[in-house]
Amino acid sequence: MARYNGPVCRLCRRQGSKLFLKGDRCYTDKCAVERRPSEPGRSAQAKRIKKLTHYGIQLREKQKMRNMYGLLERQFHNLFKKAEQKHGVTGDNFIQFLERRLDNVIFRMGFTNSRAKARQIVNHSHILVNRKKVNIPSYMIDIDDVIEVKESSQNISDFKDLKQGETDINVPSWLDVDFNNLKGKVVKLPSKEDVDLPVDEKLVVEYYSR
Ligand code: SF4
Repeated sequence: MARYNGPVCRLCRRQGSKLFLKGDRCYTDKCAVERRPSEPGRSAQAKRIKKLTHYGIQLREKQKMRNMYGLLERQFHNLFKKAEQKHGVTGDNFIQFLERRLDNVIFRMGFTNSRAKARQIVNHSHILVNRKKVNIPSYMIDIDDVIEVKESSQNISDFKDLKQGETDINVPSWLDVDFNNLKGKVVKLPSKEDVDLPVDEKLVVEYYSR
């Protein structure tokens, strides 16, 4: 599946906010948004004086959300259409679909420090869902699914610290994680309240409903 391969910090600088795409680095003073808050291609002294139209604000929120989950426009829009067709509030459905992707679940479980890394782990066939190998990042997890790192993959450096308990991870309440066995269970489906997104999803719905 195609994906964005360019510099990810540029995406944050373009949206003017931290999207946390680079794992631990995002929490240090090396973060590009903090070091150079100007838009890419503009000097560090240049201020953000551009006044956005309502459409511009909708577009920015949509791009922020899409970049955070690391999806291309087609994948993102297809998921939105699926959310629209489902019974209920479209914005809530959309967030739930995005959160239920296997790469996001691996990230939320704390097994990786970014969604991009989680996607790589899934692509490299390190993950089992209900004891079966799944190497599709967009795979939709469901309630009671058990997700685990394959036994033969548990000693790779990515997971060693987790197994040794050298971690302080805030796992959301819809997931139950056993770090010693690198295993987790989906105890309920995520709702909008379970997800702390720095994005106004109502503007994203407006953007696609124009
Ligand atoms: Fe964005 Fe993280 Fe890069 Fe900062 S370090 S600009 S939050 S990806």
